[in-house]
Amino acid sequence: MPATETQTQSALLGVYKPSGPTFVGGEGCELIAEDGRRFLDFTSGIAVNALGYGDPDVAAAIRGAVDAGLIHTSNLFRTQPAAELAGWLAEHSFADRVFFCNSGAEANEGAIKFARRLAGEGRHEIIAFRNGFHGRTMGALAATDRAAYQDPFRPLMPGVVFCDIGDTAEVDRLLARGKTAAVLIEPIQAEGGVKPVPAAFLKSLRWLCDEAGALLIMDEVQTGLGRTGTLWAHEAAGVAPDIMTLAKPLAGGLPMGAVLVTEAVASALKPGDHGSTFGGGVLVASAALAACRKIGAEPFLAEVRRKGTLLADLLGALALRRPNVRAVRGAGMIWGVEVDDAAGIVARAQDAGLLLVSAGADVVRLLPPLVISDDELRRGVAVLEEAIPC
Ligand code: PLP
Repeated sequence: MPATETQTQSALLGVYKPSGPTFVGGEGCELIAEDGRRFLDFTSGIAVNALGYGDPDVAAAIRGAVDAGLIHTSNLFRTQPAAELAGWLAEHSFADRVFFCNSGAEANEGAIKFARRLAGEGRHEIIAFRNGFHGRTMGALAATDRAAYQDPFRPLMPGVVFCDIGDTAEVDRLLARGKTAAVLIEPIQAEGGVKPVPAAFLKSLRWLCDEAGALLIMDEVQTGLGRTGTLWAHEAAGVAPDIMTLAKPLAGGLPMGAVLVTEAVASALKPGDHGSTFGGGVLVASAALAACRKIGAEPFLAEVRRKGTLLADLLGALALRRPNVRAVRGAGMIWGVEVDDAAGIVARAQDAGLLLVSAGADVVRLLPPLVISDDELRRGVAVLEEAIPC
C-alpha cells in the first residue's frame, strides 16, 4: 500500500520542523507546490541552488555522467571530473591541492585534521569565534559557539578556544602560547545573523597567524562560489587563507564539500591520513564542474555584484519605511534584516508566496539564487515589506 504523506513525514527523524507545502517541482527561482502554487525562493535551499532550479548545464552534466554509466568509482581509481574540478578550483583560488568530501561539516572536519597534521604534536588547538557556525559533526560542533547545539552532546572534541570577533589582543595572547594549529573563521557569520567580519580583522588574523606559525582557515561553506559577488568572500578583504572549506553551491544542488589547501599543508598529508568513500565521485564532480565554470565567469560575478547593489538599495529603502527594522547588512546575494520576530515574518512571507529563512531569532536571511532577475528581487522585497509589521 503506498504511504500517505503523513506516514512518510512521520518516519523522518524529528530533527527538522518543515513548514508549508510539499514541493514537487522547481523552475528558475521558483518552487512549485503540489497544488500548483508557485513560491519565489529567497532561500536557495540554504545557499545551495546558486543557479536556481533546472539549470540546463548542470542537468546536462548530470545526464552525461549517468549516460556514461559512471556515477561512482571510489578514490581507489582515477576519474577525470574530480581531477578537472580540483584543477579548476586551484586555478581560481590561492590553493594548490583539493580534497573532496560530501558536506560543509565534513569539509571542516577535514580542515581541522589537516591543520593538526601539519602542526604536529602539542599544537592541536583551534581558535574559533563566538557566534560562528561550522556544522554539526563532533569536530565542527566543537568549533560552533552555540550552547543549544553543543550542550546536549558534551563532552565535545577538546582543544577549541573561542574569541570575540575583533579581539586581536586575545587572539594574539592565545597564539603566543604556542599551542595553536589554526584559526578558523567565516568571512561573514552567516547562520549567526549575516554578520560580515571587518576586513581589518581578517587582515590582522593573517598577520598574527604568520607571526605565530599557525594556519588561517576560512570557512566559505555559505559565502563561497560567488554568493557575495566575488568568487570567494575573502577576496574582498584582500586576505588569502591557508585552507578554505566549501560545500553548499559547489555541485549545483548535489551534496559535495571540498577542502582547498596550499602546497605547504598538502605536503604534511600522505596516503591513508584522511578519506571519504563518496568524495569527488563522477556524478557530483561533473555537476560541480558545470556549476563552477558558470558561476566563476567574470561577467556572471559582475552581475551578482550589480544585483547585490540593487538588493542593498531595496532593503535600505524598506528599512526607512519599517522603523522596527534595526539593521540591514550583507553583500551580493546574502543579506540579513534584523527585526524583532524573524520567525513570524518568515511565516507571513511564506503565506504570501515568498520563501525566506531566519538566522537566529531576530534576523531574516535573504539568500536568493545568484541568477535571480531584478524584477524578482523587487517582487520579493515588496512581499518581505508587507510581512514586516509597521
Ligand atoms: N559552515 C558554514 C559557514 C555553514 O553555513 C554551514 C551550514 O549552514 C556549515 C559549515 C555546515 O554545512 P553542512 O550543513 O553541509 O554540513
